[in-house]
Amino acid sequence: MYKHSHDLPLNGSDSLAKAMLTEWQATAAHLSSYVSSKSLELSLVCDIDCENEDVAKLAVAPLLFLSPLKNCHVRLCGKPNAQLQQVAEDAVLQARNISPSILSPLATALRLSSGSSSSSPSPSSLHRRHLLNLPRELRFCILNYTDLVAPRKEVTWSRQHSGYLPGKASCADRQGRGQKCPPAIHHGCQFSRCWDNAYSEYSSIGCFCRRRHASSSSACRCWAPPTALFLVCRTLCEDARVVFFSNNRFVVHEFQSHPPRAMPPLVGNDYSYERFAASQFLRDIVPADCLRELRFLELVFAPYSPQAWPRDGHAALQDWSETIDWIKDKTNAAGLTLRLVMGDAPHDRKPMTWAEGNAVLAGHKRILGPLARLGGGDGGNNSLRRFYVQVTWPAWPCDPRADGAPVDEASKARTVLYEVHFD
Ligand SMILES: [Zn+2]
Ligand SMILES: [Zn+2]
Ligand SMILES: [Zn+2]
Repeated sequence: MYKHSHDLPLNGSDSLAKAMLTEWQATAAHLSSYVSSKSLELSLVCDIDCENEDVAKLAVAPLLFLSPLKNCHVRLCGKPNAQLQQVAEDAVLQARNISPSILSPLATALRLSSGSSSSSPSPSSLHRRHLLNLPRELRFCILNYTDLVAPRKEVTWSRQHSGYLPGKASCADRQGRGQKCPPAIHHGCQFSRCWDNAYSEYSSIGCFCRRRHASSSSACRCWAPPTALFLVCRTLCEDARVVFFSNNRFVVHEFQSHPPRAMPPLVGNDYSYERFAASQFLRDIVPADCLRELRFLELVFAPYSPQAWPRDGHAALQDWSETIDWIKDKTNAAGLTLRLVMGDAPHDRKPMTWAEGNAVLAGHKRILGPLARLGGGDGGNNSLRRFYVQVTWPAWPCDPRADGAPVDEASKARTVLYEVHFD
């Protein structure tokens, strides 16, 4: 049974590790003579030094003695690692005697055809040809049923993580979340935080989450971007991009998405980066020809202090202005909903003076300004479909040093939410 403490990761050059692996092999061989087919469910946690794929293969090899198992869960590293992940996945399939061909036809076709170098047509390449022979609209319908559409149809991206994560439900940070989220209430919650899901039949086996570890287990159904779908061939990659960018809402966090109000480390008394995360996402992450597919974009800025918002002339503002000009003709404004959220930390807000509050608002306006060029604002065809801005008056509570702040006004202005429809 998994406990919260483990031995240090196994190092292949360690003689103790070799002795341990030899003993594990003998144990599995001994156990195999007493275990009947498909009656044993086995969890193997053997954290390996992440560089050491060969040791990982030695650790999972004895599972073959016990195959076919009723079920098998394998974890090979405390941190995610692509090579060890693949070793774990292959080991679980072999231990359960599952052939890749009985996985879904689409997954099999994509998985096998991408690695095929044979000149004669294999069954998998026939699958692929069938898929590509379908009209594009039908291919889109099929791809809509893959992980290209995230649970809750929401994907987050942040400067800190630099990868796609599923959007979180409002219940995600509550204690005892699993108790509150049976699938009938929040269907999407079963596809994240698998270790915390009280409704899973595997709730007692510990954590084999593939998002957090190099592991493979039927207990983890956590969403991850379906990278393989983008790697099959150019045509399917283009289809997958259209489905991915047009069907999900994208929430871009200036620093990190979980928790969203965390502050980046500040260097000195100025904004620390040369670019906004939003600029990076729009210019470097989303392929230029996919910008037109975006239907919902939310840009979330961290709750910076009055001094830390970039001032006029800052490189990040210059880059932001150039980014807006660059994407202006590449997005489909009439189909795009844009939300700009200026972060607030209501439980961690420091008292600030009225002047400091105005300095924060001035920082917001410098970011908001270039966006006017994006929507057109003329109600014509180039206008954004919807545009929302969420701004919280930051000087609340007011610092006693407040320079003549009209406290009642501050109270009224505490939360300001603009909603602008251009349609
Ligand atoms: Zn939930
Ligand atoms: Zn874990
Ligand atoms: Zn998981």
